[in-house]
Amino acid sequence: MLDLFNLAGRTALVTGANTGLGQGIALALAAAGADVVAAGRSPADDTATQVRALGRRFLDVRADLSSTAPVRDVVAAAVGLNGRLDIVVNNAGIIRRADSLDVDEADWDAVIDTNLKSVFFLSQAAARHMARHGGGKIVNIASLLSFQGGVRVPAYAASKSAIAGITRALANEWAAQGINVNAIAPGYFDTNNTAALRVDPVREPAILARIPAGRWGQPADLAGAAVFLASRASDYVHGVVLPVDGGWLAR
Ligand code: NAD
Repeated sequence: MLDLFNLAGRTALVTGANTGLGQGIALALAAAGADVVAAGRSPADDTATQVRALGRRFLDVRADLSSTAPVRDVVAAAVGLNGRLDIVVNNAGIIRRADSLDVDEADWDAVIDTNLKSVFFLSQAAARHMARHGGGKIVNIASLLSFQGGVRVPAYAASKSAIAGITRALANEWAAQGINVNAIAPGYFDTNNTAALRVDPVREPAILARIPAGRWGQPADLAGAAVFLASRASDYVHGVVLPVDGGWLAR
């Protein structure tokens, strides 16, 4: 049974794997046997050290995913590591907080371009390879704001709601080619993305009080969901947005 989750011999591309949730996911996939390609705007040295300590190969690709310009080169570099690309985790993302009355167009575009447009076109580039090589696994990082509106983050809510939409749309089109497209919706996790909330004396206790598990998530809390959706164990799972949220949405 455990062999269903074994990623030995697989190559996984994880965007934004230098820190936070992307790093946690990269380490989980490596622990399950995958070699890892990190793509992001910042060096992923710490992730490299930890992946190699697990005995896996690691490649760091510099790419600014605020535009679609690098996506083909990123996929080509990932394929170049082992001659194949089996898993893509679209994790890189940004958040800009402002009252909706004050949001400016540059911030709106930055969030939508990074969190949505690049995810679509990176998935497209990867799926063209996967479709020719027997299939693969695409895992998008969605959010609670794929289901809810959030507060003072309208572009982020729009981008993550659209991630749920393209997860289902791409799953419908690519399932027949052996490509599983699914998403993980993390709850409130302790990363740079939520730093402003965690020091807010009003928001932090309000958020914590609403989480049935009674704590913020840590990147390692995504390990099980990530390995499941990247492995043969999820071969008949398509278009799902899986919350990993300490029970937030159940409340
Ligand atoms: P983070 O800020 O620590 O990590 C974001 C990652 O994205 C970093 O590696 C960063 O370098 C990368 N990135 C940002 N802009 C980029 C660009 N233009 N090009 C390339 N890489 C870029 O935050 P995180 O919480 O680890 O966020 C990871 C993902 O999880 C994001 O998509 C975020 O929206 C999502 N998410 C986070 C939470 C949470 O509570 N932390 C909850 C739900 C969803």
